[in-house]
Amino acid sequence: MSSTTPVVTTPDADGPTVLTGTPVVPGVALGPVIRPHGAVQLPADDEAPVAEADRAGERARFTAAAEVVAGRLTERAAAASGVSAAVLQTTAGLAKDRGLLSTVEQRIEAGASAAVATVGAAQQFAELFASLGGLMAERVTDVNDVRDRIVAELTGQSEPGVTNPDTPSVLLADDLAPADTAGLDPTRVVALATRLGGSTSHTAIIARQLGLPCVVAVGGLDDVPEGAVVLVDGEQGTVTVDPDPADAQQRVAAAEQAAEALAGYEGPATTADGHAVQVLANVQDGAGARAAAEAHAEGVGLLRTELAFLGHSEEPSVEEQAKGYAAVFEAFAGRKVVLRTLDAGSDKPLAFATPADEANPALGVRGLRTTRLNPGILTRQLDAVAQAAQATGSTPWVMAPMVSTVAEAAEFAALVRERGLVPGVMVEVPSVALLADRFLEHLDFLSIGTNDLSQYALAADRLSGDLADLTDPWQPALLRLVQLTAEAGQRTGKPVGVCGEAAADPLLACVLVGLGITSLSCAASSVAGVGAKLGTVTLATCQRAAEVALAADDPQTARAAVREVLDAA
Ligand code: PEP
Ligand code: MG
Repeated sequence: MSSTTPVVTTPDADGPTVLTGTPVVPGVALGPVIRPHGAVQLPADDEAPVAEADRAGERARFTAAAEVVAGRLTERAAAASGVSAAVLQTTAGLAKDRGLLSTVEQRIEAGASAAVATVGAAQQFAELFASLGGLMAERVTDVNDVRDRIVAELTGQSEPGVTNPDTPSVLLADDLAPADTAGLDPTRVVALATRLGGSTSHTAIIARQLGLPCVVAVGGLDDVPEGAVVLVDGEQGTVTVDPDPADAQQRVAAAEQAAEALAGYEGPATTADGHAVQVLANVQDGAGARAAAEAHAEGVGLLRTELAFLGHSEEPSVEEQAKGYAAVFEAFAGRKVVLRTLDAGSDKPLAFATPADEANPALGVRGLRTTRLNPGILTRQLDAVAQAAQATGSTPWVMAPMVSTVAEAAEFAALVRERGLVPGVMVEVPSVALLADRFLEHLDFLSIGTNDLSQYALAADRLSGDLADLTDPWQPALLRLVQLTAEAGQRTGKPVGVCGEAAADPLLACVLVGLGITSLSCAASSVAGVGAKLGTVTLATCQRAAEVALAADDPQTARAAVREVLDAA
């Protein structure tokens, strides 16, 4: 079974090798290959114990190294913004984590050298996170990343990860640690391609934010040597090794021209024949909302409220929450803002809301389900939203994540309406798509979260690079669920949007519009690409694109068929 085995093609005997993967950020870029620095050499733990008299010195060496690492990451966080800054802050926080630091110190007290103690403590933490289940997978990467940085500092090795190159280059890697991708300078690293990772991986999200062409899950990438020239096509999902120079330059120039056309995009989006489609932004705070307004988003289609509270051990007060929400409402005064109530749990655990000991967190108490354990968290959040709405004179739309039944939706809608707000729910569980009409009897809108809807429809962990082909948003079964939901919206005259990563793909955006979707919400950096693409196609072409995508058996065939329809129009 492998619809997914990446294809390697060589057009003719002497032609360049073309590797294919999952396209995640459109754009074409050319450059020599760089790779992350080789792995940091970790010390073996068979050293003789450190003499008691030297242990205080060893502790001081460790403390100094951890401080340097935390300081560097914090500095980079300050220079970054949005998701990059949040990722770097999280990693810096780990380098300062009291639990981790004191575990290392205890090991030094027991006679281990600073480096050996760091490795041992990191392993202890990684095992703990891993034993907590799938959602901790990314934290294990962070722990190992911090371990490598501290050991490198202690042993005089170069800092692991990516050094921004002097000439514009293409970064190839197995997968990228969150802290590596967050530190990238997009003028010097011009494209990314990874052997692992899916369209919702950290690498993809950061590439999207930086606007770097990116292809993930590329087969055969290991064999491409450092220094070889490659052409990355983030729309086609290809990495061409040693391309014909003239052909490559022409493709880059065409992509640059297309990018310039985007620079002129100012919204609001319509198809070429005037069918209006709202192109909105996914944001997490006021700063992100202001950036989205500058990028000509028409509003906010998904305010991920939980992201602002990921590091909090206590539930934020109603006042603190209201202040944060008001900053977003102000950035889009008089325009549409869709706020999502806390999506705690699974890949976004919140210390004050998420049970720690679930066997299967993605199918557990997450999203709206956290109210089963603590209903006050939801009502206090809705009070904060109402307070912010009143203070700013806005009428936000409010939606709940991870809803499965009509009764849950009805109960949520009542709480939202009581406060003068507009209720909706996310379509992340197939049960909502299947009964969309009945959900809409209680709600004013639906918003499809394709990241989770594909995870639950295809039964594949959205964080698993090995299963990225299954969670590909072009899977025809996922598109069928989108169609069912959009049709229910059309029957009832209520809006149905898409706010998952699918909405960031300009080609797929045409399909979604053809399926009857009324708004698309994506990273601010993708707004112009999506909006401008819609301006080049008619609604009838979008509908034809939707038909051929639904008729395909797999994502690759769907993409190719849609490209053909759009090119022919
Ligand atoms: C989704 O599931 O598609 C979505 C938009 O929510 P998140 O990615 O935050 O889970
Ligand atoms: Mg989701």
